[in-house]
Amino acid sequence: MAPGAEVDRSLWQATAAPAPELPTLAESLRADCVIVGGGYTGLSTALHLAEAGASVVLLEAQAIAFGASGRNGGQVNPGLRLDPDDLVARFGAERADRIIAVSGGAPDFVFGLAKRLGIECDAVRPGWVLVAHSPATLAKLQRRGEQWVRRGVAMRALDADETAAMVGTRRYIGGLYDPRGGSVQPLSYARGLAQAATRAGARLFTHSPVTRLEKQGSDWIATTPRGSVAAPQVVIATNGYTDDLWPGLRQSILPVRTFQVATRPLGHNLERSILPGNHAVSDLRRLILYFRKDAHGRLIMGGRASSTQRGGARLFGFLTGVVQDMFPQLGRPEFEHAWSGTVALTPDFLPHIHEPAQGVLAALGYNGRGVAMASVAGKALADRVRGGRAEDLPLPVSDIRPIPFHGLRQPVLHLIMQYHRVMDWLGR
Ligand SMILES: Cc1cc2nc3c(=O)[nH]c(=O)nc-3n(C[C@H](O)[C@H](O)[C@H](O)COP(=O)(O)OP(=O)(O)OC[C@H]3O[C@@H](n4cnc5c(N)ncnc54)[C@H](O)[C@@H]3O)c2cc1C
Repeated sequence: MAPGAEVDRSLWQATAAPAPELPTLAESLRADCVIVGGGYTGLSTALHLAEAGASVVLLEAQAIAFGASGRNGGQVNPGLRLDPDDLVARFGAERADRIIAVSGGAPDFVFGLAKRLGIECDAVRPGWVLVAHSPATLAKLQRRGEQWVRRGVAMRALDADETAAMVGTRRYIGGLYDPRGGSVQPLSYARGLAQAATRAGARLFTHSPVTRLEKQGSDWIATTPRGSVAAPQVVIATNGYTDDLWPGLRQSILPVRTFQVATRPLGHNLERSILPGNHAVSDLRRLILYFRKDAHGRLIMGGRASSTQRGGARLFGFLTGVVQDMFPQLGRPEFEHAWSGTVALTPDFLPHIHEPAQGVLAALGYNGRGVAMASVAGKALADRVRGGRAEDLPLPVSDIRPIPFHGLRQPVLHLIMQYHRVMDWLGR
């Protein structure tokens, strides 16, 4: 298949557990809470609220996990983009310790949830390997490793030989092993959450975009083209697909499209030379690359970003070139799937939680690290909806801050990416 020819049919769609059959909203309903968005954030909120006995309606504009939750790399990684010491500098020791504990433990949460709910999603947990292509990146990884080791995590520095043995390429000068990471079939995981939420009593609707949210008395009314839901509490869980439903929310994140390709199953011999331990890998150059194998031994390579809907074929071509360069043992690899999805970046590299009005919560901006964190955030939002303390949320509640000159983000992002490309090339 020519990469880029079939961008909407991802590897995950081709191999996932069947989609739950869900209706489109065509009536007026009442609930304790209405959730906008059917990715991990919304599904985890719905599940945990329903399990606690609340009446919940979830409205998804397209299909369950249509957004990033059905398109991502499936890496269940711990931590946030900021390292622990950076979090302490930013939030002070006490608050930072809680953020570090919650984000560091987020993979435990996901693997525990999948096990408890019996979700079949090819969950494996051999650890996460972060690799460095330059001395500057290796130094950064060393600092990160030291900070987590100080906090009791059994991270381990990898030299060039160990890295080559674990990854199957000599392109890296070293790395860092983090035992907490693993991977899932991301769409199967999302569909499993949807099924579990439905079993627990949540009412989920697909092809039901919320087009208006307005206050009437003590209720919020979420209106879709053919129906509406009245509820005193609303959770907005739309991440990189955020529209103009709530003033300023779309402008508070940078939506960036990222790309993945997957080969055919590699076969026994190649599987033993490429990622023999099935680790998930992140290459921490400025324009990040991430790769792993799926349960059938296909190599999946992701990375490169675009701020527009254009340029797909070129970026898929770039990724196929990366695979050929990194793993020459593949010869001329054949690619079965190529697809993309949108992540939400934030200027401070942290997820944001907002409470812009009474009864309204929003969580978004996972900066490409949401498989674990969005699942955790959903549970925390459910606790907050049920009257939990704002201080117990994974991150402090912040005001919605539209990014200045958001309308100019495409040319600005393009320039920033060109700059990072040069810095990667220079090994800075
Ligand atoms: C290509 C790619 C690779 C990634 N790889 C990884 C990875 O390996 N590891 C990792 O941790 N993270 C990864 N991420 C990030 C991760 O997938 C996201 O952080 C996470 O899925 C966010 O979940 P969410 O539920 O908040 O948002 P989403 O899954 O994006 O869901 C938002 C949903 O809201 C819906 N919506 C929007 N507006 C409305 C409306 N008005 N009414 C109703 N519904 C609406 C959308 O249709 C969408 O389904 C990746 C992301 C992408 C795109």
